Amino acid sequence: MNNALESNWGNPSSLHILGMNAEIAVNEARECIAKTVNASPKEIIFTSCGTEANNTAIMSALHRKNRGNRIITTAIEHPSVLKAAESLKEFGFEVVLLKPDSNGVISLSELEKALNDKTVLVSIMLVNNETGAIEPVKRAAELTHKLAKNAFFHCDAVQAFGKMPINVKALGVDMLTASGHKIHAPKGVGFLYCSERTHIAPLLIGGGQENGMRSGTECVPLICALHGAVADLPDLQNQLDIQRELYDYTIEKLLENNLATINSSTESLPYVLNISVNGYRSETLLHFLESKNIFVSSGSACSKGNVSYVLKEMGKSNKEIDSALRISFSRFNTKQDIDTLVTELINATKKLRKA
Ligand code: PLP
Repeated sequence: MNNALESNWGNPSSLHILGMNAEIAVNEARECIAKTVNASPKEIIFTSCGTEANNTAIMSALHRKNRGNRIITTAIEHPSVLKAAESLKEFGFEVVLLKPDSNGVISLSELEKALNDKTVLVSIMLVNNETGAIEPVKRAAELTHKLAKNAFFHCDAVQAFGKMPINVKALGVDMLTASGHKIHAPKGVGFLYCSERTHIAPLLIGGGQENGMRSGTECVPLICALHGAVADLPDLQNQLDIQRELYDYTIEKLLENNLATINSSTESLPYVLNISVNGYRSETLLHFLESKNIFVSSGSACSKGNVSYVLKEMGKSNKEIDSALRISFSRFNTKQDIDTLVTELINATKKLRKA
């Protein structure tokens, strides 16, 4: 990224050497990223964030209206999917929201019932941002292609990319979203995988960059940063095993000290742990922990303290939702970090109980 800011600062569309060098850097990033998800480079569209990639995928339904007007998604998607889908209602779309079970996982038989000839788009996330629940995307994409011939299948994989192996061909998805800032790239860069057979319309129209799929001069430094973050990823399967151990250790310590109930299911991706510290409001604990340099979330970062619709959909009580904390892990976290978290949670509850 620094190199792109300091010396390789040309415009990839320019014909001179500065432009060509910038174009080479963008193409190298595209190739590396395509390889990690088993796509071809021309199937990767760089975007400004996961939200833009999700919006591009969902809004593509507008251009398929002559084939049908049904969109199927889940009640626990990120707002960049949910609100985009809802916005299409005023254009005559019917939006079906699949409900999760108490583990936060949607039911394939509900999807099967909802799919019909009028369905033009199905969007199901791979990993939920608030609970880590893993959705059955491969089976859902299979069902979609079998039962709704006019439908494209989109998957928001923002919480999964760089945390678990993703093979877009094996998953059978037509489109997939990822975001840089979940894997240690800076905020403001992401991509949409769009398979060659998926014809969608761009959200941004103009100079025809990104193969005409996303106009606007590419942000070369951020694309290079995403390249760096992806190239730096460890063996994801191996890292998952290491992370699972830390996740289980966290749960064990929380339960051993009677600190919390666990909202995430044991089948979740071990990078997001949702807990309820019963009797204490999330915000109070969040700010106490913040004073100890421990940064957790009270729900999804995007909802800024609004009550969690994800936990509500999972059937959690208001009490559990009011005291919910989301602990997000990175591959750089250690057992020592968890010990500090547990110690400070014990201190917090003691102090707050007195108060
Ligand atoms: N989808 C999910 C599941 C997310 O967790 C997020 C962000 O947290 C997004 C989409 C939006 O990504 P971005 O912040 O890059 O717009």
